[in-house]
Amino acid sequence: MKTIGFIGLGIMGKPMAKNLLKAGYDLTVHDIIPERMSDLAAAGAKTATCGKEVAAASEVVITMLPNSPQVKQAVLGPGGVLEGARPGLILIDMSSIAPAAAREIAARCAERGVAMLDAPVSGGEPKAVQGTLAIMAGGPEDVYEKVKDILGAMGSSVIRIGEIGSGNLAKLANQIIVALNIAAMSEAMVLAAKAGADAETVYQAIRGGLAGSAVLEAKMPMVLAGNFKPGFRIELHIKDLMNAIETAHEVGVPVPLTSGVMEILQALKVAGRAQDDHSGLIQFYEDLAKIQVRR
Ligand code: NAD
Repeated sequence: MKTIGFIGLGIMGKPMAKNLLKAGYDLTVHDIIPERMSDLAAAGAKTATCGKEVAAASEVVITMLPNSPQVKQAVLGPGGVLEGARPGLILIDMSSIAPAAAREIAARCAERGVAMLDAPVSGGEPKAVQGTLAIMAGGPEDVYEKVKDILGAMGSSVIRIGEIGSGNLAKLANQIIVALNIAAMSEAMVLAAKAGADAETVYQAIRGGLAGSAVLEAKMPMVLAGNFKPGFRIELHIKDLMNAIETAHEVGVPVPLTSGVMEILQALKVAGRAQDDHSGLIQFYEDLAKIQVRR
C-alpha cells in the first residue's frame, strides 16, 4: 500500500502527513482551508479539492479532524471519501471521536466495501513532528496488519486494542488521565506558589519523584513561561471529556472527577479561553487564588 490520502492538516495532521512523505509514501492531501495544504504541496504531496478526489487517488485514506461531525461530513457527506472510494479502500480515522460514532461510520463504510480502523493518537504536536506518537487502534486484525507500517511512520508505539471503537475507548481513558493530571498539577502549584515557594524550584524538586509525569514535563514549562499557545486547545479537551462522560454514562460508570474537571474547562470557555492550550487550565486556579505561577 503506497498511495495514501490525508484529510485534515491542522496542528496534528500536517506534521503527521509530512512524516508519511518522508517515509516515501505517495500522498494526496485535503483540508477545507486550502492554505493549510501549501506546505505539504511544497514538500511533494498532491492536493485535492474534496474527500472524493482524495479517495479516488488512494489505497488508504487517513482523516485527522476535530470531532465526529467533521469525520462524518468528510467521509459520508457530499463529495466525501465514500463517493470516490473503490471497494478495498481502507479508511483510518485518527481523530479523537466518540467510540459509538466510529462504529457508526465503519458500518456505513462496510456497505461500500470500505474497511475502517479508528486509530487516535496521544503525544501532541511535538510527538507528531518527531513521528513518535502513541497510536491506539481498533478494527479488524487483518486490516490492522495491512496498515501497521503506515501507522509506524507516524508513531513509536502502535497498539491494536480490539474491534472498531476500541481505539477511541483507549483515547478516552488517556484524555481523562491527562485532564485530571493537569488539574492536579494546577491545584498543587498554585498552592505552593501562594504559600511562598518558588514554583520552578518546586517543579525541579518533584519531577524526579512519584509526582513526576509526562504531563508535568510537557505542561509545567508552559505554565512557568505563561505560554498557553496551543498545542491542544481547551475546546478540544472539552469535546473529549464530553465523549468520555457520555460513553461512561451509556455503560453505567460514574465519573465524578472527570465531571469536575469538565466544569473547570467550561468556566475557562466562558472566560474566553477555549482557544488556549489545555495547560491554561491553571488560570482557573490562578484567578480563584489571585496569584500567577510564573518563572
Ligand atoms: P486542528 O483544529 O488544528 O485541525 C483540524 C483540521 O481539520 C483543520 O485544519 C481544519 O481546517 C480541518 N477540517 C475540519 N473539518 C474538515 C472537513 N470537513 N474536511 C476537511 N478538513 C477539515 O485540530 P488538531 O489539534 O490537529 O486535532 C485533530 C484531532 O486530533 C482532534 O480530534 C484532536 O482531539 C486530536 N488530537 C489533538 C492533539 C493535539 O495536541 N493538538 C493531540 C492528540 C489528539
